[in-house]
Amino acid sequence: MTMPIDMRSDTVTRPTPEMRQAIAAAEVGDDMSGEDPTVNRLEARMAEMLGKEAAVFACSATQANQMAVRTHCIPGDELLIESTGHIALFEAGGPAALSGVTCRLLNGQYGILDLIDFEGKIRADNQHFCRTRLVCLENTTNVGGGRVYPLENLTRIGQWARRHGLKVHLDGARLFNAVVASRVSAADICRAADTVTVCFSKGLGCPMGAVLAGTQEDMARARRVRKLFGGALRQAGIVAAAALYALDHHIERLETDHANARAFAAAIADIAGLTVDPPDVQTNLVFFNVARSLGNAAQLSAKLKQHHVLINASGPQRLRACTHLDVDRAAVLRAAQIVRESVAAGFADLPGSATGPYARG
Ligand SMILES: *Cc1c(COP(=O)(O)O)cnc(C)c1O
Repeated sequence: MTMPIDMRSDTVTRPTPEMRQAIAAAEVGDDMSGEDPTVNRLEARMAEMLGKEAAVFACSATQANQMAVRTHCIPGDELLIESTGHIALFEAGGPAALSGVTCRLLNGQYGILDLIDFEGKIRADNQHFCRTRLVCLENTTNVGGGRVYPLENLTRIGQWARRHGLKVHLDGARLFNAVVASRVSAADICRAADTVTVCFSKGLGCPMGAVLAGTQEDMARARRVRKLFGGALRQAGIVAAAALYALDHHIERLETDHANARAFAAAIADIAGLTVDPPDVQTNLVFFNVARSLGNAAQLSAKLKQHHVLINASGPQRLRACTHLDVDRAAVLRAAQIVRESVAAGFADLPGSATGPYARG
């Protein structure tokens, strides 16, 4: 059996032998009683790295994001988010289902917002309206295009939000990709946000886990919410040990993923009928569009799969390729060659819907 080159997501990474050793050696206790030393160490370390007072370990970034929404909002409140935001699109309607919160979608550029996009978006204090309460930002952007939020935008939006009594939550599922790509510290990136989510099971290569960080007061609330949402665990040090290992060994190497993503993008950029979009690849996500005359994205994805390259459609004519720990430079260049051959051979005859859905972590 040929092993596929799996570029669907950085979530497909498996723990390395060294990470498994760290997991096996983890010192554990009952975390729900605050007695897991490894979880406590991870929470303290993340709080410090992110420049926040406290952090709470969560099962997933989805759970951490939803804990943040519930911590900041009450039923009837509204949050503002870019139209491609994960919290609004890919968390199973969490804000509505778990917190009674509506999402107001704002149109940005590749998932990035600036002050102009917020103009007129705070609802008046009036019984007819929901209460605008929270701004959710995503760094790096996912469906937006793997972009790093410019620090000036974060600062401007943060100051504006504070002035208007709004809270800011930063969905930093891929925060360390932004840190490595921009060489700005995590604490500086997070300064404008009240709460921050970081995911360990994306590019950091852990089997599971995330953290939410913020003030002591907000984290006390978030801890109650975590229990309510079924995320309070017992010997969670087993997985927190993987996260601590990743903080030591898997952050700097994200630069390799970024270089591989740029190499992949460069290798497919001149294929007639394909357009890399955004053309300048900043992190580990490469989005590219396929001309309608060739077929649709699902059909190209099906063609690539026949040749053991896994890249998913992320829109009718759009695909997303992701680099990570388990694909090296040779694999990425081989995948690019197979994209080239697949386009040359044609793929419009293959089954593949051009209507989605296109969920992707
Ligand atoms: C993947 C992702 C999440 C959710 O992460 P899980 O740990 O899979 O729940 C949240 N936000 C963004 C931007 C993501 O890319």
